[in-house]
Amino acid sequence: DLVKDEDLEIIHDLGAGNGGTVTKVWNKKRNCVMARKLILVDAKPSVRKQILRELQIMNDCNSPYIVGYYGCFPVDVHVGIVIELMDAGSLNDIYRHNGPVPIEVVGKVAEAVLHGLMYLYDVHRIIHRDIKPSNILANTNGEIKICDFGVSGELINSIANTFVGTSTYMSPERIQGAPYTIKSDVWSLGISLIELALGRFPFTDNQDNENDNEFEALSDTEEDPGPEHDFDPDATLPLSTQRPKLPPADTTKKERRKSKGVSLAGGGHTMSILDLLQHIVNEPAPRLTSRRKTFPQEAVTFVQDCLYKDPAERTSPQDLLASDWIVNSKVTQSDLKTWALSTVSED
Ligand code: ADP
Ligand code: MG
Repeated sequence: DLVKDEDLEIIHDLGAGNGGTVTKVWNKKRNCVMARKLILVDAKPSVRKQILRELQIMNDCNSPYIVGYYGCFPVDVHVGIVIELMDAGSLNDIYRHNGPVPIEVVGKVAEAVLHGLMYLYDVHRIIHRDIKPSNILANTNGEIKICDFGVSGELINSIANTFVGTSTYMSPERIQGAPYTIKSDVWSLGISLIELALGRFPFTDNQDNENDNEFEALSDTEEDPGPEHDFDPDATLPLSTQRPKLPPADTTKKERRKSKGVSLAGGGHTMSILDLLQHIVNEPAPRLTSRRKTFPQEAVTFVQDCLYKDPAERTSPQDLLASDWIVNSKVTQSDLKTWALSTVSED
């Protein structure tokens, strides 16, 4: 591999997710910054070795829409993966710090993700399996790329043994046990695009949490009723506890939000992750609408095409790339650069 762990000096943490922590590092040999992800793999050394072998496929993943790969190695009970540092962070970080992403930029996010998905599938027969705003990264050069795709079956298995990989970006057919297809990624893209455009997870109740999004709260007084329920989109259930523990009734919303896998009460409703999964399967798909904003019809249609509940009806990445919203976009790379810079320089 090109990069060894001993070449790297830790600068600071970038974030943590399900079974992983990401650190900004300095590569002494190459004199540049990189991102190092450590994934806890609670398995035999032989399994870790197998994972490291499978990750080598990432060496061959070269696309302007895929985060660059520099190497991997064992780090005690972890697998270390070194990738390109994306200095504007994830789209999740960006909207949480800056509020809703401008709809024209959301269009370019959609385009980049679709190009990335098509590259992975057409060239490597890889299905991403985990499209969500935290796996879409941006840099101050105005580039948008995807990361954390399912290259290693052994890694997918070993993470699934620690956590149920049930994130709430999951498509109805996946929730019902159908195998992954590229159409499942299209669903997850649709959910992610609504989240970026609204500045909140689409299945989140917005009635009693104005403080959670200061930007929307400041920009408008009219209430956006949103859907009836409230979730932590990143919450996952440990396999051992099928049902999350409920927090004491007198905790504040913020406190409750901190505990993973715990359902949040909103307007008298309480909904667990399992209820949410049921909701996704049984209720109409969310749409790109808000009482506060009017979105271009082309964007609304695009998102609707991503969110057909029947995967056979759902539009393919190729056809989505040919849609009016993408084709008629006037946003340039230079505009994206200006936007990305504005998101990092504000604090
Ligand atoms: P998740 O994707 O579930 O949030 P990860 O462990 O994959 O969990 O990533 C944690 C966080 O680290 C991300 O949300 C993102 O903010 C940050 N991150 C991951 N990879 C990079 C990268 N290459 N460059 C910059 N930030 C990154
Ligand atoms: Mg990730």
